[in-house]
Amino acid sequence: MATLQLKSIVKEFGETSVIKGVDLDVNDREFVVFVGPSGCGKSTLLRIIAGLESASSGDILIDDKRINDIGPAERGLAMVFQSYALYPHMTVEDNMGFSLRLAGISKAERRDKVLAAAQILQLEELLDRKPKALSGGQRQRVAIGRAIVRNPSIFLFDEPLSNLDAALRVQMRIELARLHDELDATMIYVTHDQIEAMTMADKIVVLQKGEVEQVGSPMELYHHPRNRFVAGFIGSPT
Ligand code: ADP
Ligand code: MG
Repeated sequence: MATLQLKSIVKEFGETSVIKGVDLDVNDREFVVFVGPSGCGKSTLLRIIAGLESASSGDILIDDKRINDIGPAERGLAMVFQSYALYPHMTVEDNMGFSLRLAGISKAERRDKVLAAAQILQLEELLDRKPKALSGGQRQRVAIGRAIVRNPSIFLFDEPLSNLDAALRVQMRIELARLHDELDATMIYVTHDQIEAMTMADKIVVLQKGEVEQVGSPMELYHHPRNRFVAGFIGSPT
């Protein structure tokens, strides 16, 4: 099980408040999408959840335990970045197994986990290739595979499809929905693309200027936007 709670999260960079008191409940196995215009704080909030950035104040709870009381390896979080960040000199297999190697997991066990992830992502034929010999979509799958091998209970995605062309984005959305079903995991997905939010989310969190404007299902937001900003952003009829 993995529930996540954000309590009054604030983030300041110097004098500037970038996240201004965010409260949010994420349920086990929910697909939650953070959506909002560029610069509204989506990546910062995700990085705080990932533990890559610390909040200026507020609390994060995973399964009712404060995140600071849980060791990084026990939090069950894995992040997939927009820029893939694959190691160019390593094969697909070594890229996918790298975090396991750092964790001291044996070569045989690494291979098992990488093969299982490669199967889910249809990468079995490509394990010996280097990243430069892959298409954009294949590289993105490897980046997702690096998260899957760690068997996280919460996946964090930061605009994972924004470097892909339109047709591939549509295909990857379908694949991510399938992955969500297959892996039984909680997913938090950041995007500035309202179509992605509307088609993928169980729950959408609309952010503007570091604040939550509205939280709801795609249909709730579409039919009952709380204000003009949400209506405009979601594309509700006016
Ligand atoms: P988004 O992902 O929604 O585009 P970000 O979370 O990247 O937004 O950024 C939110 C705001 O915080 C922006 O105004 C950005 O310039 C600012 N910001 C992000 N990281 C830093 C940082 N390390 N130092 C100062 N300001 C930052
Ligand atoms: Mg961002």
